Amino acid sequence: MVGEVWQIGDVKITRIVEIEATGGMSRIIPDAKRELVREIEWLYPHFSDEEGRMRGAIHALIVDTPDRNIVVDTCIGNDKERAVPAWNNLQTSFLSDFAEAGYPRESIDNVMCTHLHVDHVGWNTMLVDGKWVPTFENARYLYGETEFEHWRGEGEGDYGPLLADSIMPVFDAGLVDLVQQDQQICPEIRLVPTPGHTPGHASVMIESKGESALITGDFLHHPCQFAHPEWSSSPDVDRPQAIATRRAMYEKLAGSPTLVIGTHFATPTAGHLVKDGDTYRLDV
Ligand SMILES: [Zn+2]
Repeated sequence: MVGEVWQIGDVKITRIVEIEATGGMSRIIPDAKRELVREIEWLYPHFSDEEGRMRGAIHALIVDTPDRNIVVDTCIGNDKERAVPAWNNLQTSFLSDFAEAGYPRESIDNVMCTHLHVDHVGWNTMLVDGKWVPTFENARYLYGETEFEHWRGEGEGDYGPLLADSIMPVFDAGLVDLVQQDQQICPEIRLVPTPGHTPGHASVMIESKGESALITGDFLHHPCQFAHPEWSSSPDVDRPQAIATRRAMYEKLAGSPTLVIGTHFATPTAGHLVKDGDTYRLDV
């Protein structure tokens, strides 16, 4: 589904939704019990329902700058065998949604993965004649060097299938550029280090004509973590670091004009962070 579009100066950002659902987030943020979520009144109606069940999404963001089109995170992908039943062997309209939004896959110049988890690398490849091939054939794929070096050694475990079907085929095709956590990608786009969820995790800052937006990646998963920075996400590899990253980023963003675009936030997906007593709130 083609979702929201935001304009930040000369940069247009388009959301392509793979999955949006209520309920699955409680697995990711175990501390966010329904009764506690209901206490955060501003989450309703966009980010939780009346029962305190959290809403979440998996989407890609197409960042259209004057000199290039960049896809930030590529969701789960079609035809992939995955352990989570709701993510297994998906058959979505993701690629035709790209075309419908005006961005056929051939028009993409860069693919940027905020980190190399299963729901961020899936459409790096697609299945053609039984083989995994790079989906965005004209793109350079930007993998964080720290991130890639961390995960490429995980081939023997649960991570192996992901490396094999979504990460290494692009590397083996010679389409990967390893980037630093604070890399400047082009005049309007730079990475911001946000470690903790994974070792090389980066967020994406967009700045143009005095306007700005930040694509979070997974340094938080749900807006309830603005109210509770100490609520960890179960896949955070370094929880104290992830909490420190959230606190530091919130401090910077609160009260600023920067639009915060959440990588797993349900519709409307973006808002401005404001200080709310001892903690924070997202105004949408
Ligand atoms: Zn994720």
